Amino acid sequence: MDRKRVAFVLLALGSVTALWARNGDEPEVLVRLIDTYRVPQPLLFRAKDTAGQILASAGVHVRWGRMGSRPGAETMDVIDVRFAYSFPETYKPKALAEAFPFAGNGVRINIFFNRLASTIKLYELSAGSILGHVLAHEIGHVLLQEGSHAQTGLMKPYWTGLDYSGMVLKNLEFTAADANRIRINLVGRIPFQAAPRPSFGLAASAGSVRP
Ligand SMILES: [Zn+2]
Repeated sequence: MDRKRVAFVLLALGSVTALWARNGDEPEVLVRLIDTYRVPQPLLFRAKDTAGQILASAGVHVRWGRMGSRPGAETMDVIDVRFAYSFPETYKPKALAEAFPFAGNGVRINIFFNRLASTIKLYELSAGSILGHVLAHEIGHVLLQEGSHAQTGLMKPYWTGLDYSGMVLKNLEFTAADANRIRINLVGRIPFQAAPRPSFGLAASAGSVRP
C-alpha cells in the first residue's frame, strides 16, 4: 500500500471506553471543512456532532471551521478537509475518503462525497452518523500520523452493512491504544500558531501534497 496516500473505507462493531472525560483541557484541533456547498446542512451538522463526540472520546476537542478560520493560541493542529465531487471512479474505487497522514499542512483529507452519497442513501437513518464516522476515521489517520488500521472499532479498514446501520445508535470509537497515541502525539507538540510553518492558509490541493 502506498503509505503516503492512504485511502479508506471502514467499519467496526467494537467500542472502547473513553480514556478521558471531557473536562475542558483536551488538546484542541481545528478542522476546517472546505467546499461543503453540496452537502445538506442537517447532514453536515449531524456529521460534525458525531465526529466531535468520537474525537472527544479519545480526549481531543475538535473546533470546526471553514476555509480561512484561524487557529487559536491553544490550537495544537489544523486539519483541512476538502469535500470532492468529481474524482473519477477509477481513482481508489472502494474508498469513501482519503487521508495524507504525512503531509504537514494543506488539504490532508479528501472526502469523496459523490461516493458517500450512494452509501448514505442505502443507510438513510445513519446518514449523518456515517459521514461523521468517515470524518473521524480520516482525522484519526492524520492525528495518528499513519495509514494503518485497527482490528476493531473506528479504525477498521472496512465497515460492514451492520456497522453502517448501527452507527446511528452507537458510535464506533478508537481503540484504547490508538486514543492514547493520539493524545500523546498532540500534547507533545508546539501549539500550531507557534510552530514554524511556511503558511497555515489553504495552500495545497491534493495534487500538490507530496505523493
Ligand atoms: Zn483508514
